[in-house]
Amino acid sequence: MPVPVSQMWTVASYVIGQRLRRNRRYPLVLMLEPLFRCNLACAGCGKIQYPAHVLKRQLSVEECLKAVDECGAPMVSIPGGEPLLHDGMPELVRELVKRRKYIYLCTNAILLQEKLEAGWFKPSKYLSFSVHMDGLEDNHDFAVCREGTYQKAITGIRSAVEQGFRVTTNTTLFDGADPNAVRGFFDEMMDVGVEGMMVSPGYAYDKAPDQTGFLQRRATNELFQMILSNRKKGWQFNQSPLFLEFLMGKRDFECTPWGNPTFNMFGWQKPCYLLQEGYVDSFKELIETTEWDRYGVASGNPKCQNCMVHCGYEPTAVDYTFSGFQGIWANIKAMAFNTYANPKAAKRLDEEKAKPHGPMHHLVQLGFGVDVKSDGTREVVRREKDEAAA
Ligand code: SF4
Ligand code: SF4
Repeated sequence: MPVPVSQMWTVASYVIGQRLRRNRRYPLVLMLEPLFRCNLACAGCGKIQYPAHVLKRQLSVEECLKAVDECGAPMVSIPGGEPLLHDGMPELVRELVKRRKYIYLCTNAILLQEKLEAGWFKPSKYLSFSVHMDGLEDNHDFAVCREGTYQKAITGIRSAVEQGFRVTTNTTLFDGADPNAVRGFFDEMMDVGVEGMMVSPGYAYDKAPDQTGFLQRRATNELFQMILSNRKKGWQFNQSPLFLEFLMGKRDFECTPWGNPTFNMFGWQKPCYLLQEGYVDSFKELIETTEWDRYGVASGNPKCQNCMVHCGYEPTAVDYTFSGFQGIWANIKAMAFNTYANPKAAKRLDEEKAKPHGPMHHLVQLGFGVDVKSDGTREVVRREKDEAAA
């Protein structure tokens, strides 16, 4: 079971309650960013680009809890930055558990084992570590720009699983991702013992230094079709199955940015986790003063045209599930027939084995190259300086 029954029940009763009250714009997951500083410097990260005086600051536990109470969402995701760098994190988690909030503590897991040994957290059905993993070892270490990070994260995950914590992974896929390697990564994560996995395409943040590697809409559908069709039975996803169908191009959704409202040291962020078009002081103000019609694909807003990110569309998928018989039936079908047999996707997946992918492909500019052998396997080789420069 990828999500505990109690969590499913909490979410289902909350969403049904909102619909019965005809509340169209309700929060599902609060994105609470207590700090932006991090112990990594990933190329695609839009958070760590803030100036030093911002990176030094952090929200207090009281400020975090005030936002949680004000928002009222049943789930709280704590991204960053790296939340394990915040010394108030044990207290914040304890308080959120008391409030019966389902917590996704997003971490790169570099400090996870250390903090578990220090007794920062106790296992709870309300607490899940959501570990940032960008694929198998070579891909992950390249994406986070530091060798050894994957192994450190695996050690942290194993340690947390052994101690009875809930552990999930969150993976952002970029242009050039190798669908076969991603499938191999899913196998590996399930072997390590995670409860479920989350996947999403990346979004081209204005602040991210690398603006070239983000997926466009059609390419996103094609990539996810290869990855998520012919699904293995053992794979578990900690996501709405209808959101995964959306990524595969099987259904069309509009985003519901108010579903994952964002609070950080600047206030409540308009309109969503990805765009920064101003801040307001209260959640009520966010809902009432944001011009929501200016966002989403149908609005024609160029910033939204290629966005398929989970924080915009997962709440849509959940809301659709409880919109009536059609949504419930679609969800039941997606859970019962979850292998998505697709011979064409299998063929394309096979063809992908012969192509250079992801970090290996890009490594050429750093003085490395990739040799594709006759059997389709790839080997990274160091080029001579002159050859690399040519
Ligand atoms: S681990 Fe997350 S917050 Fe830290 S630099 Fe990487 S993407 Fe940014
Ligand atoms: S489409 Fe994406 S970027 Fe645009 S409002 Fe929705 S979540 Fe934000």
